[in-house]
Amino acid sequence: MTERLYYHDSFLYEFDATVQGAVSDAERSALILDRTAFYPTGGGQVFDTGWIMADQHKLRVAEVAEQEDIILHYLGNAVALEKGTRVHGLIDVDRRRDHMQQHSGQHVLSAAFVRLFNMATVSFHMGADYCSIDLDTKSLSAEQVQAAEALANDVVMENRPVAIRFVTQEEARELGLRKLPPMEKDRLRLIDIRGFDLTACGGTHVGDTGQIGCILLRKTEKVKQGWRVEFVCGKRAVATARRDYATLTEAASLFSSHLWDVPQQIKKTQEESRMSRKSREQLLEELADLQAARLLAETPESGGRKVVIRTYLDRDLTFIKLLAQRLVRQSAQVVALLASTSGPPALVFAESTGLPFDMGALMKEALAQLGGRGGGSKEMAQGGPGKVEGLEEFLTALAQRSGLG
Ligand SMILES: [Zn+2]
Repeated sequence: MTERLYYHDSFLYEFDATVQGAVSDAERSALILDRTAFYPTGGGQVFDTGWIMADQHKLRVAEVAEQEDIILHYLGNAVALEKGTRVHGLIDVDRRRDHMQQHSGQHVLSAAFVRLFNMATVSFHMGADYCSIDLDTKSLSAEQVQAAEALANDVVMENRPVAIRFVTQEEARELGLRKLPPMEKDRLRLIDIRGFDLTACGGTHVGDTGQIGCILLRKTEKVKQGWRVEFVCGKRAVATARRDYATLTEAASLFSSHLWDVPQQIKKTQEESRMSRKSREQLLEELADLQAARLLAETPESGGRKVVIRTYLDRDLTFIKLLAQRLVRQSAQVVALLASTSGPPALVFAESTGLPFDMGALMKEALAQLGGRGGGSKEMAQGGPGKVEGLEEFLTALAQRSGLG
């Protein structure tokens, strides 16, 4: 059993210990000490990192885990240490302080949700960027989120003492804890935020709520077990706000506007782009009308029909489809074989209603030779040819072969 020094003092950043042994698998090895200040992953909080000094070595502690009552210190560099070797442990202070701010912040926030709305926290997750709690509730409004954030920050400002207490299960029941642990243990470790929250917890915590710095609530989302609330505390909150500000500043400068006007600017731009799309569509329709009339005027009649064959290098599928529709609308005796090579190559075949040909079948025949996919009805078909070289000559030959003109 490893003695947990962090149970009694979260601010113990250095300690002396004796090597008890080591365990290793194919990939890495872990050191076991008689006592440790390193926190192993558990209860939502992630592990500490740091160093272990032994003889002439400074060993990096890359991960800390718990196996029953033993704490395993996974080392970044493998060095065999004899049982009984005296070592000196150093905790990565910045990381530990961050974890204390997040974890104590979580206790305050969870208690605030209980006090205001009787919403219990069912799980806590500490990520690399942000933390989250899952609340047992069917609904969560923006007003409730803001109220919980305000109360939690009041408790931070009040700088209430945070004490560690050890009690029996029986005493714990009488104290009325926010949350009793599911495992039956003889002795419970409690985190007592004076006059505000009392919870069983094995984590590392601040000494006074003021050390949390601040609590910033961010995204909320519906999850299976209730509502998830993302939050950041202390220096993380400052770093997050800094990043948000930088993003917003960049967006504002792109719009040449003030920060707070960005949503308004986005709405305006969306509206402008919708209008310009509409006007472009109108212009294309007018252009297709004019082009269709010109094509019909310059195409000679043969066998009572006009066969229009064109390849467009600078028009896309949308336009040649529009053009095909206008051609068959303007003339009762036209067959159009159109191709576009701007963007993905496209073919559109169309004939006036009542003509005897089958555009769908003709498209299949063309694609059998060109490669690609496509199809359609008797009067209109489209496809994407696999080959674009000599497309117009190919279509002319296809028209002659099929007896169109
Ligand atoms: Zn906790």
